[in-house]
Amino acid sequence: MVKAEGVHKSYGAVQVLKGIDLEVAPREVFCLIGPSGSGKSTFLRCINHLEQVNSGKLYVDGQLVGYRQSGNKLYELKDSEVARNRRDIGMVFQRFNLFPHMTALANVMEAPMQVKGETKAVARERALKLLDRVGLGDKAGNYPSQLSGGQQQRVAIARALAMEPKLMLFDEPTSALDPELVGDVLDVMRGLAEDGMTMIVVTHEMGFAREVGDSVVFMDQGVVVESGNPRDVLTNPQHERTKSFLSKVL
Ligand code: ADP
Ligand code: MG
Repeated sequence: MVKAEGVHKSYGAVQVLKGIDLEVAPREVFCLIGPSGSGKSTFLRCINHLEQVNSGKLYVDGQLVGYRQSGNKLYELKDSEVARNRRDIGMVFQRFNLFPHMTALANVMEAPMQVKGETKAVARERALKLLDRVGLGDKAGNYPSQLSGGQQQRVAIARALAMEPKLMLFDEPTSALDPELVGDVLDVMRGLAEDGMTMIVVTHEMGFAREVGDSVVFMDQGVVVESGNPRDVLTNPQHERTKSFLSKVL
């Protein structure tokens, strides 16, 4: 579903990604861990067309991100084509970024209606099902300010799912939450994983990575230091940098 080959990304003179190689299979739950500033968010932003890589190749669902191949030639995608590809990728951020003037239901209905031209009735029916699935069937009429952080994050997940993505990206989805609200959000993500969603999850929740993750990648300073089965990487790390990081977060 995702393949990175030697992906480099710089901001001016600052090299953030220094040759990332990795692969995410369909239906895989792929956890990305690493210290602050190691380039995790930047990598997700590249996958989601929010940043262009400087060199290397990044594929999503077999397609080179940002380009179309025709024979031996590569053409940069037009904005409309980028928008089309982005529809298939759902993203959930640390900050939930719900529309504050819309109810939970309207937040979830918005993109399918605006972007896909879906009818109100169809969007509403799916939104209600999704709110139910994230445990908020009774909160459809609430505005974000009338929801806890954990509930807002679950609405944000429902909103991303409303576009029926084939890949979900989570960037520290529970980092901004009070500890007692984290579990409900992780439970929703666990359910998604059980339903076979392909997910890349940047997280400091090592319990989630161990129990739900199919693979874990430890990134530091723009490179993949160590990757593999969560039990191996988390309980028996081979590299000093991984050991040092885990000793701080576990
Ligand atoms: P992480 O998510 O692992 O904490 P980030 O991908 O957010 O790391 O950032 C990696 C590095 O890239 C940091 O040093 C950060 O300051 C830098 N960076 C991120 N975005 C930008 C930007 N838009 N312009 C300049 N530097 C950036
Ligand atoms: Mg980040």
